[in-house]
Amino acid sequence: MSELVKIFDTTLRDGEQSPGATMNVAEKVRVAEQLEKLNVDIIEAGFPISSEGDFEAVKEIAKKIRRSQVAALARTDRLDIERAWEAVKFAKSPRIHTFIATSDIHLKYKLRMTRKEVLNAAVKAVRYAKTLCENVEFSAEDATRSDVDFLITVIEAAVRAGATTINIPDTVGYAIPSEFGSFIRTIQQKAQGIEKVTLSIHCHNDLGLAVANSVAAIQNGARQVECTINGIGERAGNTSLEEVVMAIRTRNDLLRFHTHVIPKHLFATSRLVSKITGMVVQPNKAIVGANAFAHESGIHQDGILKEKLTYEIMTPESVGIHKTSIVLGKLSGRHAFRERVRELGYRLSEEDLELAFNRFKKLADKKREIYDEDIESIVVEEILRMPKRFKLVYLNVVAGNVTVPTATVQMEVDGGLIQGAGFGDGPVDATFKTIKKITRTKSKLLQFAINAITSGTEAQGEVTVRLEEKGQIVIGQGADTDVIVASAKAYINALNKMEFKKQKLTGM
Ligand SMILES: [Zn+2]
Repeated sequence: MSELVKIFDTTLRDGEQSPGATMNVAEKVRVAEQLEKLNVDIIEAGFPISSEGDFEAVKEIAKKIRRSQVAALARTDRLDIERAWEAVKFAKSPRIHTFIATSDIHLKYKLRMTRKEVLNAAVKAVRYAKTLCENVEFSAEDATRSDVDFLITVIEAAVRAGATTINIPDTVGYAIPSEFGSFIRTIQQKAQGIEKVTLSIHCHNDLGLAVANSVAAIQNGARQVECTINGIGERAGNTSLEEVVMAIRTRNDLLRFHTHVIPKHLFATSRLVSKITGMVVQPNKAIVGANAFAHESGIHQDGILKEKLTYEIMTPESVGIHKTSIVLGKLSGRHAFRERVRELGYRLSEEDLELAFNRFKKLADKKREIYDEDIESIVVEEILRMPKRFKLVYLNVVAGNVTVPTATVQMEVDGGLIQGAGFGDGPVDATFKTIKKITRTKSKLLQFAINAITSGTEAQGEVTVRLEEKGQIVIGQGADTDVIVASAKAYINALNKMEFKKQKLTGM
């Protein structure tokens, strides 16, 4: 039997710290359900003290998830730990994850604490967490830039205080694989009591080495990997879950380990996280990118046709990528729609189902073939997104090469109707300027991109916009067969996210 490597997913905590990737409670619960289907061992659901929204999300996820463990993050303060426990205690298998930095750089400039004070804080926090929850993880933030002897002292003390998992984060993404591997080996060999707990790692991708560092750590004794879907996270992101899982699986000849993850759910999970966060996956992304299994050169195509093994080390089917097939059309009824929504993993109330079905009917009038991607887009937009302040009611745009582009927009703002018209350089510009004017918002448009959800000219256009206001960045998305309508929806979704996003604390 090969050894188990536990997969600790932090898409909902570290992943959400990606600039713009804010998710609301309903969206987070949906991602958590999908992560459970993917069969990750631990879901880090959030950092409860950081905001009211995070607290609610962790609580809801804890109540819903039954198979995976649910973890909540806390600094070493008593209040943080209490708040984390208040949210996560509803879980069938809860975990408190507490952290403090151990590097001199962080001690001196950020914490303004001595090594002795940090050691005491760590011990006190783990002891206190242990009185609430059997399952306690301790992380030494910025471990890779810490003095290794001091780090080992803190680890040993945390283990004695009752920690069941010890996590070594490369918080700033500074490590090199061979160096990180021997660092983990040193801890594994020298820290007393470490054999009684799970040794974990948490890598960042600033040098593009997060997955490589994680694999090196596994080869040297780590048995838990912290990672995120699509590798999203602070700055350049975290270890990508799909990459580390498929590396272990594909190179099992060298990496004699296994995970509990069910790979055929990887692609759907990647697509869902991208759709909800608005963080588009780059085409050349390993495992889940649009080009990951596309063979361009004639020689490669010829080889693949003769024998897949020539250029394919794993199959697209193994990670859940299938050729898109038509699932529903204009004549599909409520029953077929309900079944398909359920198969995609959504559990909707009758009321929500009716709402989604109506939108599906409208789409089917314009578009003959409806794919899974279209259905998912409808559910995410109509049900999960829940526009709060701003809602689009009516949009009319006049454009072309002989007229000044003009947009007339009617919106619902805080329940009241407002309307206005304006000009622009093009139809999208006129629409955005008018929305900005009538909502009296001050956001700056940083980026605008259109993608087709599926192939074909009648496909829905999916627009992604990135807005900035006083240093806060949000990403909005909208889909429609009309790209101007999709653009308006994306812009309004971003405005709603800006409202939702409060100044939040961040973790390691
Ligand atoms: Zn991190």
